[in-house]
Amino acid sequence: MSKPCPKMERCPVFPEFRNQSALRVLQTLYCEGDFGRCARFKIASQGEVPPITLLPDGRHMKQGA
Ligand code: SF4
Repeated sequence: MSKPCPKMERCPVFPEFRNQSALRVLQTLYCEGDFGRCARFKIASQGEVPPITLLPDGRHMKQGA
């Protein structure tokens, strides 16, 4: 049983997954699934701030889409 990502509440891209249906699959795969593989989670776990547009799979989100 997978746990939700502990960074969900403060993650700036997480709300976008609800707004953009094309990204919703990422929420299922990473935020509520295997968050340890999330590119944002990995960077944040090293004490760094991930770029605002970085998606869990390493792609970058288009702003204003
Ligand atoms: S995008 Fe990554 S860091 Fe953000 S809530 Fe989802 S799994 Fe966690």
